[in-house]
Amino acid sequence: MRIVFIGPPGAGKGTQAALLCEKFKIPQISTGDILRTAIKENTPLGLKAKEIMDRGDLVSDEIIIDLIKERIVEPDCRHGYLFDGVPRTIPQAETLESQNIHFDYVIELIVDDNKIVERITGRRVHPESGRTYHIKFNPPKRANKDDLTGDDLIQREDDKEETVKKRLAVYHNQTAPLIHFYKQWEAEDRHNAPKYIPINGEGDVTAIHNNLVKLLTNTQLIAKS
Ligand code: AMP
Repeated sequence: MRIVFIGPPGAGKGTQAALLCEKFKIPQISTGDILRTAIKENTPLGLKAKEIMDRGDLVSDEIIIDLIKERIVEPDCRHGYLFDGVPRTIPQAETLESQNIHFDYVIELIVDDNKIVERITGRRVHPESGRTYHIKFNPPKRANKDDLTGDDLIQREDDKEETVKKRLAVYHNQTAPLIHFYKQWEAEDRHNAPKYIPINGEGDVTAIHNNLVKLLTNTQLIAKS
């Protein structure tokens, strides 16, 4: 089971990815998380990435490909993996393919831009643990305090409204063309191309997950027949 998740920032990729990984017992590989860890640990990569991420821009394809090549050789990737937030550009997709990093499914999580802005700008994080809340959809018990520690919550720099709008523009310009790329590939070479699965990402988290599992199962059955 080798899966790629594509969708705008804040579409719920991370949440849905975690649920699928649990179900299929595969690791979730999130380049955003790897970069945020590097920033927290003040590594040279973190120092390079921080400013770019805070602006809402993409870090270079070279950095991302190196991260992935390092991660994919870990033993937990032997039976599959789920890529969350990568590839993010057509060159990244082409390079992964040329490096023999293949996928069986490309899942597009579809969410309207206005919903995205509401979702992301309301997000609050407990920086120590990474626990996340939403001021409207999943508020902490006490306003702006972590439920377990009582520490202050923060808004990630790249979750601020201006940055979110920038990230959406970057998504539409650089990442959304991947959908055409994968669809075209499937149309030309149904047997070797990953299967493209679009899914509505608005609504209840569990309902979306169940729908996704159903779609994946049906696609597997069709592919085998
Ligand atoms: P995410 O958590 O996936 O939304 O990623 C947060 C930020 O990390 C993005 O806005 C980019 O600056 C950077 N990033 C994560 N994945 C990639 C990628 N595949 N290519 C380029 N930049 C990335």
